[in-house]
Amino acid sequence: MNFEEIVMPATVAEAYEALTTAENPVILGGGGFLKLQNRRVHTAIDLSRCGLEEVHLTPDCIEVGAMVTLRTLETHPEMPRALRTAMKNIVGVALRNLVTVGGSVSGRYGFSDVITPLLALDAHLDFHKKGRMSLEAFLESQDRTPDILVKIRIPRAAHSAFYNVQLTYTDFSMVNLAIARNHHLRIAVGARPGVARLIKDPDLRLTPGEILEKIKFAKDDKASGDYRRTLAETLLADALKEVSQWK
Ligand SMILES: Cc1cc2nc3c(=O)[nH]c(=O)nc-3n(C[C@H](O)[C@H](O)[C@H](O)COP(=O)(O)OP(=O)(O)OC[C@H]3O[C@@H](n4cnc5c(N)ncnc54)[C@H](O)[C@@H]3O)c2cc1C
Repeated sequence: MNFEEIVMPATVAEAYEALTTAENPVILGGGGFLKLQNRRVHTAIDLSRCGLEEVHLTPDCIEVGAMVTLRTLETHPEMPRALRTAMKNIVGVALRNLVTVGGSVSGRYGFSDVITPLLALDAHLDFHKKGRMSLEAFLESQDRTPDILVKIRIPRAAHSAFYNVQLTYTDFSMVNLAIARNHHLRIAVGARPGVARLIKDPDLRLTPGEILEKIKFAKDDKASGDYRRTLAETLLADALKEVSQWK
């Protein structure tokens, strides 16, 4: 990506002002994925001075600023287990030190190992203009009005776990699955290769295949839809064995 100017606002309000008034703007998170794009924009809005790198703990949730890196999610002792596990498989420490949770969620990437655990954990998103919405609603929404993701609220789940299949350690997931239980059991399946989908309160008397019946899997250069479904059923069988041990 090429840009002609970069602005470094000191507040989210100033960043939003730039987003809505500048010519052909783009928000920079860690810049990891933007860097790969062959695109020319006029104004890059760097959020690194907006104070969005904080993790704030409350009794029932963890508030994570949009500029918090994946490495912080991986190493922070209070993060739910599913999230910490998912981060460990994303490329390497150098990349995880750079790329942000805000960029990972805003990109709505189908391959994401970040969105899947957040969806199972029932994360909610705080946008500067649109206010609060669930990650589930964000992923389903067709609204692409530009806005700034300020923070992500992650409820403190009693239990959670993440599973995935990668051909090699640094590769994208062929399929991934996260499971979390707070008041309800939630299963998210991602890298289908489309963005993660949610199953709420499944009937645990059903087989993994039956639980996943309504989830669509498709073909890409990594795997066929049928192969992905088989992998997801196996991951879910493992996950349900783990759930049966949760007190
Ligand atoms: C080589 C490589 C391999 C990767 N492999 C994996 C992988 O295996 N698994 C995986 O899950 N991920 C992978 N990723 C993706 C990575 O984890 C991040 O999700 C991705 O780089 C986006 O995060 P970022 O901070 O770099 O965002 P950027 O690239 O800076 O931004 C991404 C998008 O989000 C927008 N944006 C950023 N921040 C905000 C905000 N606060 N509000 C609104 N919009 C915003 C930007 O304008 C842009 O459209 C990989 C990335 C790279 C570069």
